[in-house]
Amino acid sequence: GVFSSRGPEGAGAIADAAPFVVHDINNVLAVIGGGLRLLECQDDAACRKAIVGKMEEAVMRVALLSRQLLDAARPRPKSIDGLVEGRRLAAMAGTLDMALPPDITVHAEIAPDLWGFNADPEELYFALLNLCRNAADAMPDGGAITVAARNVESPAGAAREFVEIIVVDDGEGMPEEVLSQAFTPYFTTKAPGSGTGLGLPQVQRFAERRGGAVFIESERGAGTLVRLFLPRVHAAGRPGSVVGTEIAYTPS
Ligand code: ADP
Repeated sequence: GVFSSRGPEGAGAIADAAPFVVHDINNVLAVIGGGLRLLECQDDAACRKAIVGKMEEAVMRVALLSRQLLDAARPRPKSIDGLVEGRRLAAMAGTLDMALPPDITVHAEIAPDLWGFNADPEELYFALLNLCRNAADAMPDGGAITVAARNVESPAGAAREFVEIIVVDDGEGMPEEVLSQAFTPYFTTKAPGSGTGLGLPQVQRFAERRGGAVFIESERGAGTLVRLFLPRVHAAGRPGSVVGTEIAYTPS
């Protein structure tokens, strides 16, 4: 199946999710409250232990939920966009494997004549890293990720020219019901603590803020392909705009 970032989940989706997270937190607090009332009149030690275990789990869940909210609400440093060109993207892609498990390799295939595009290099790096982490998570026994970039004249009939960056894995893929929710903030299939469900929404926001888009194609058991489209920017740039300024990229 294919799923795209266009739809009800727009750029403000993280803020929109806050009431739902608060709702979740209240539900978990209700569980804890119920557990406490049960404990009060519980004489059996084994039973008390089970209740306390459930309540500890619930406390951890609330802690995770509130951490997610804080992360989403934290003011981010302002984006500093600049012209990103093929060689910079290639250098960046070449450092991605350092942040991934040792049994994961990253093949970078950046078209030598790649057009320039506008992005904050730091945000671009984290967007790519998010996608590669997801790919690595889908290949628990290790494997290869391809990060490729090419020029696209007019994807799906669009009037503009785009640079397309794809991240491909041949991991476990997503069933339809996961794919259709993949861009929903806080949606995760990962264990609490290892997934926040904010990776793809962040990538989506990164693309859409620059007039781009992100699409996912995935097949259960076959793998996943994420397509990131960013509008072409000409090196000349308009006077007074940051376009055309090259910004030093330092992986962190
Ligand atoms: P997180 O990685 O923290 O769970 P994301 O928003 O990045 O949050 O991803 C949401 C969900 O989409 C993941 O939990 C996973 O189920 C699914 N997913 C994302 N990328 C991939 C991939 N490359 N292969 C398989 N499933 C994926």
